Amino acid sequence: MEASPLIRPSECRRLWGSLVLILLFLAAVNVPYAVTKIRSRTGPVAVLMVDARDGEAAARGWVARTPHADPWPEPETWQMHGRFGQREYDIRWQNPDPNTNGYSLRLQRLGWSLPVIEIKQMWWDWNDPALQGPESDPAPRLMARGVVGNPLIVGVPLWLVFVVLPLGARLHERRKRASRNDCVWCGYEAGGLAVCPECGRAGP
Ligand SMILES: [Zn+2]
Repeated sequence: MEASPLIRPSECRRLWGSLVLILLFLAAVNVPYAVTKIRSRTGPVAVLMVDARDGEAAARGWVARTPHADPWPEPETWQMHGRFGQREYDIRWQNPDPNTNGYSLRLQRLGWSLPVIEIKQMWWDWNDPALQGPESDPAPRLMARGVVGNPLIVGVPLWLVFVVLPLGARLHERRKRASRNDCVWCGYEAGGLAVCPECGRAGP
């Protein structure tokens, strides 16, 4: 669009400058917004969206990476609770021995539209010497996809609607004026004069 003589250089700068500002603003609020969605890990769960068992649960898998080199057994129960900007998963495989931890994953993914923060808690048989080592309650993790993607997913459509579209409409109007030999900037019937007598601007 910058190649058109019907777009002023200042409009061209504003076009790209506004995109940069929108993306910077959204990048700045992306992670803090996700932080506001963190729920107490002991609190009651939100509205249930998916409640799957056995085969259906197994087909959905563990969602997040498990900490062991050997894969965990297929989950037997799988629940997902979701609200705007927040998803919470509770996925389990029960150990037949009631005195021993089964494999469980409790996960929060926060942010919009893609998750930005992941908070994980895991349980397994901590007494099994083969499963020693990794952290069962790791620190919250930033998700690169959401950190990079959210400003683009939210910002680019806003920019297109509120900046590019109005400029496109102005350009369309100026093209019509040019085809009528009117001043492209103010629409005055300049009759093809090099400088518009009304607004004083030179034609493109
Ligand atoms: Zn004019």
